[in-house]
Amino acid sequence: MDGDSLEVVIVGGGIGGMTAALALSQAGVSVRLYEQAPQFSEIGAGIMLTPNATRVLIHLGVGAALAANAIRPPASIYRRYDNAELVGEAPLADVIEKKYGAPYFHIHRTDLLDLLAGAVRSQSNAQLFTNHRATECRHETGKATVNFANGATDSADLLLACDGVHSTLRANVLTSAQPRFRGQVAWRGLVPADGLPASVTTESSVVWIGPDRHIVQYAVRNGSLVNYVAIAAKDEWEEDGWNRPSTISEVTDEFEGWHDDVVALLRATPADALYKWGLFDRDPLDCWVFGRVALLGDAAHPMLPFMAQGSAMAMEDAMIITRCLDAADSVESALSDYQATRLGRTAQIITRSRGQTNLYQKLTGNKAEQRAQSLDPVFGYDAVTCPIGREGETI
Ligand SMILES: Cc1cc2nc3c(=O)[nH]c(=O)nc-3n(C[C@H](O)[C@H](O)[C@H](O)COP(=O)(O)OP(=O)(O)OC[C@H]3O[C@@H](n4cnc5c(N)ncnc54)[C@H](O)[C@@H]3O)c2cc1C
Repeated sequence: MDGDSLEVVIVGGGIGGMTAALALSQAGVSVRLYEQAPQFSEIGAGIMLTPNATRVLIHLGVGAALAANAIRPPASIYRRYDNAELVGEAPLADVIEKKYGAPYFHIHRTDLLDLLAGAVRSQSNAQLFTNHRATECRHETGKATVNFANGATDSADLLLACDGVHSTLRANVLTSAQPRFRGQVAWRGLVPADGLPASVTTESSVVWIGPDRHIVQYAVRNGSLVNYVAIAAKDEWEEDGWNRPSTISEVTDEFEGWHDDVVALLRATPADALYKWGLFDRDPLDCWVFGRVALLGDAAHPMLPFMAQGSAMAMEDAMIITRCLDAADSVESALSDYQATRLGRTAQIITRSRGQTNLYQKLTGNKAEQRAQSLDPVFGYDAVTCPIGREGETI
């Protein structure tokens, strides 16, 4: 299809929506992106970008900005929770780049969103709007329309709902099936590196493995900050939201008896910057498209974070929908190709991410070897060149 004649409205200015805005506008499509928040911002936390994600970002021309803002970790190190014994080490950096042809990075989420938004702003055919909370959408012949809480409305050839795990638009058009709490609670902290033990300020990521609990920590912003996610199995999530402020004593009590270096990291968390999340996913949907409305990112396929693939899948979605629109002769056929290409892969990653709980919260075996099993199809996927439509239906 000729991108120049297409208009796409994107709802949600997170990593998925912003990557889609960049990919589509570069393909010549007119894009209007609407975010509910007063500014484009991300939570104060880090993110791991695996080669299947960085491959898309490099293709979209933000590789240099990414490399300048990210850390290229030498390895993933696995340690026992109480005595710091090494229970696995997986090389990253050169080994990953040689094997998959794209880097593995750690980056601050705000830095990632900023560089994506900067690239979108440089596209004359992309417009970004804040303070627009979508309340409902509808599909009419040949177009989709979205209404906003501030009274505004917009219509386009295609509406991409990129409004996250608790997507309003998904519930509006497709299904009322809600994401489910998966028995894990995560505390996320971002800690100034000054004064922390050397074992937690390493450029490698460290995964501390304990019974029914684990902690993933890694450096961001040139090593000036250490990001951690501390995860514990819990039967219930009783909070009325999915993201709540927490206290240092709550997280240190939860990880009592863990190695001194872990406790030092948790204790050093700035008191106003510790958040607690219930971890949710949803069984894979068998349909992401309703007329001219399509889901993308967490709105389509929320998953547990244990394979660090949520954003990566959103970036792949963004690349594939762009390619499908470019290759097809109608929006309907492009959406059908998009869905066919993405359903199977994302369903497999949802299921595999659930299975990783056993890897990180059981003290058996070499963790690096266990994790390496079948990573090739995940890291090696090339959303820029892979087959699309029916031929692209494999992982
Ligand atoms: C603990 C944890 C660690 C993770 N680590 C990683 C990792 O290392 N690597 C990785 O790839 N992924 C990771 N993820 C997953 C990743 O964070 C998500 O998959 C990713 O943020 C999804 O992006 P998105 O754009 O689809 O949704 P979101 O990031 O949720 O963005 C949705 C946007 O839509 C906006 N919005 C919502 N409703 C409306 C509305 N009605 N109108 C307008 N705007 C709206 C929101 O304000 C937001 O800006 C992790 C997740 C968790 C919980």
